[in-house]
Amino acid sequence: QLYGGFEDITERKHAEEQQQLAASVFDHAHEGIVITDTGGAIVDVNPAFSDITGYLPEEVKGKNPRLLKSDQHPPEFYAEMWHTLVSDGLWRGEIWNRKKNGEVYPELLTISAVSDAQGKTRNYVAVFTDITDYKEHQQHLENLAHFDPLTQLPNRALLSDRLQMALAQTRRSEKLLAVCYLDLDGFKPVNDRLGHEAGDRLLVEVAKRLKKALREGDTVGRLGGDEFVLLLAQLDNIEMCEHTLGRVLQAISGEYDLGGTKKVQISGSIGVTLFPFDDAAPDMLLRHADQAMYQAKQAGRNRYHLFDIAYDRNTRAHLEACLRIEQALGAGEFCLHYQPKVDLLRGEVVGLEALIRWQHPERGMLPPAEFLPVIDKTRFSLQLGDWVLAEVLSQMKLWQQAGIELPVSINISGFNLQDHSFTERLGDMLTSYAAATTQKLELEILETTALEDIKRASSVIEQCKALGLSVALDDFGTGYSSLTYLKRLPADILKIDRSFVRDMLDDPGDLAIIQGVIGLASAFGKQVIAEGVESGEQGAKLVELGCHLAQGYGICRPIPADSIPSWLGSFTPDPCWSRHAHTRH
Ligand code: C2E
Ligand code: CA
Ligand code: CA
Repeated sequence: QLYGGFEDITERKHAEEQQQLAASVFDHAHEGIVITDTGGAIVDVNPAFSDITGYLPEEVKGKNPRLLKSDQHPPEFYAEMWHTLVSDGLWRGEIWNRKKNGEVYPELLTISAVSDAQGKTRNYVAVFTDITDYKEHQQHLENLAHFDPLTQLPNRALLSDRLQMALAQTRRSEKLLAVCYLDLDGFKPVNDRLGHEAGDRLLVEVAKRLKKALREGDTVGRLGGDEFVLLLAQLDNIEMCEHTLGRVLQAISGEYDLGGTKKVQISGSIGVTLFPFDDAAPDMLLRHADQAMYQAKQAGRNRYHLFDIAYDRNTRAHLEACLRIEQALGAGEFCLHYQPKVDLLRGEVVGLEALIRWQHPERGMLPPAEFLPVIDKTRFSLQLGDWVLAEVLSQMKLWQQAGIELPVSINISGFNLQDHSFTERLGDMLTSYAAATTQKLELEILETTALEDIKRASSVIEQCKALGLSVALDDFGTGYSSLTYLKRLPADILKIDRSFVRDMLDDPGDLAIIQGVIGLASAFGKQVIAEGVESGEQGAKLVELGCHLAQGYGICRPIPADSIPSWLGSFTPDPCWSRHAHTRH
């Protein structure tokens, strides 16, 4: 008994101590604590509860904690909370409650079920902390991530969200979305002259005016510097867009008072692209608007410019075509055909002209007119020119080994001719093939190209001749060379354009031109050759006029390199060519 009694006292003392400790924690905790019975009636609250909510214990005892409820959560939220509490004995989460003074605040709340020795729930204990400060800090961080601190406008990240949303919305409607890029005109001088502070004030004011000029549902954001993006949503038509842009330009182009005597006047340039006419990805839309903005600047600023979709498609299609042609070179799809040149009078083959072809895997054999204009004046055209030269030189080497030593001419584009390293590269190439080729290489330069820059052309021709090459002026007669020019162009050969040859038998004008060219050639000591000779009659007439050299379908079409030997073997001159020869000699 005694023993037991002693035990009893110790135990009781221990329990008393524990209770005191619990009471002390209850009283001094910084967390608010609410104890309810299983029916939800409040049994007790601690002082921190009163500090946080403003309710005294006597005001809430016996009441349901529901009196703290805000209207921030739907009924399902509370149902879910009770469900968890009953099944797991614990609920933890963030919840918005209302203080006695009506203020709504966020708290971090843990509710636990407290059970007796039999495991039956006796009470619920709710412990919570006010997380207003934490929430505010979080909000501030979010703000920083989404808004430009200077103007409070959406920043690039938020703009990109808004753009995605606006695109989705526009897709569902029949309306247009204008994506606009706005750059201020003359902002930098203001910044430099009046200082950054004034510049900042100006940007803030611009942001205000922009917001005012737009409708609800539109977005204006700042990308940084003096660059803004406008998203004009739900537009019925282009006119509506133009109307808004007019208003925006007007709004920002007034005078700005930057404090003191600092008054400035600025304006803006806007580039616009319209979705879904311009059905591009979000970042492409912005890029298009940026491009258009650049054009607005170029056109004189303080205006808007609409992005030209068709033009862009063309340039892109052109780029793709160029790329395909570049690939063709890598894939070995180019080849050269050779067209023989003959001396009609002697009935001899005097040379070959190399003409490029594209063996396209789907479209078949393509003539140069199908691809050379596409790559005209590109760096790649120089590369292709180099390829032709190398190909011809190595072909000449092969022919030489087979006992065929004919001069070969290649066509040089005007762009190639203007390239300052042209003759140097030509010289290098000749050196590396020198052992193989003793025959002469001939260059054909369009008369029209030579006339474009006669000084440069004559100096290049001079250099080529110094390398041992001869030079022909191609398509001669189409470029209106004057006698003075011809005197200055040191070319060796004039190649009569095939358009004159074609009609020479019927058109006295063309015949006269041919006679003129032949006369010029002889007066300036140059050779003359006719191209496009399709009939024996034409050949005969040319011989009669004094032009003995010719090439054309009537003699031989351009053919692959490996067909040349057998053609040469079977070549027989047309007897008709020399028919009129005796009349002159
Ligand atoms: P081009 O230098 O005036 O070449 C003669 C063109 O007339 C060739 O066309 C040839 O096939 C064609 N031809 C030859 N005989 C006759 C004929 O009797 N009747 C008719 N109607 N046509 C004839 P192709 O091969 O289509 O070349 C067209 C042009 O492309 C060439 O005109 C030349 O300016 C350019 N070209 C060809 N190959 C090259 C090259 O490797 N580099 C450069 N830069 N241009 C080239
Ligand atoms: Ca030619
Ligand atoms: Ca020609």
